[in-house]
Amino acid sequence: MRVDIRSVKVGNVHIGGGTSIIIAGPCSVENIEMLREIAAAAVKAGVSILRGGSFKPRTSPYSFQGLGVEGFKILNQVSREFNIPVVSEVMAIDQIEPAVKFIDMIQVGSRNMHNFSLLAALGRTDKPILLKRGFMATIEEWLMAAEYLVKEGNDRIVLCERGIRTFEPWTRNTLDISAVPLARMLGGYPVIVDPCHASGRRDLLEPLSYAGLAAGADGIMLEVHPDPDKALSDGGQSLSIPGLIELAGKLHKRITEGF
Ligand code: PEP
Ligand code: MN
Repeated sequence: MRVDIRSVKVGNVHIGGGTSIIIAGPCSVENIEMLREIAAAAVKAGVSILRGGSFKPRTSPYSFQGLGVEGFKILNQVSREFNIPVVSEVMAIDQIEPAVKFIDMIQVGSRNMHNFSLLAALGRTDKPILLKRGFMATIEEWLMAAEYLVKEGNDRIVLCERGIRTFEPWTRNTLDISAVPLARMLGGYPVIVDPCHASGRRDLLEPLSYAGLAAGADGIMLEVHPDPDKALSDGGQSLSIPGLIELAGKLHKRITEGF
């Protein structure tokens, strides 16, 4: 299937330019040492963009909420040390200003896909936006959320399929594979796949990543932690550092050689 996709430039990286990329990093930035350790491995593994949450949308208000602006500064520092662009989430309008200053690409999380005032405010920036699909959103609603950005002047949009809520309890969400080609065809935006939040399970990351690439995804986003069992968030769906290096190698092979 040949679809005209508007490629999005993040630092020197093109998303949707014909070659799929890998984004990887911790669910949450916990401290600078762990981010340096992950960044070093990510660069070695051929990862194009480093991710790391700093304003965290946690189900419980008593769970770790992220380092806030301090985490943005850590991401900025590590980005410069390792020469790799960084993506991080904002949850509220007052977080946009520091994000614009310190971060290369701004993520809108699943829970905020319907936050139209946040989207409109991000539409008035010129930063690339990683727009995750709401876990209860139809493809149409997801594309309309993207329109809130476009209407305000920002069409530097990458969509992220991260699973939707279904009746299936074995996985945290259900990866909607048909959304990958559909959102690309209907929206013309690059689409990446996040198998971590889609499944909640480390043992499913490899097959779901292959499924995403085979369906035409422009990238795969993976969570990684130096000691997943001790992660402050989402350890059960995070790769170890050797796990990242191994899976990234396998994905690059598929990306260059096909299936
Ligand atoms: C994340 O990527 O860190 C995250 C919280 O994902 P989602 O918004 O898809 O749940
Ligand atoms: Mn996470």
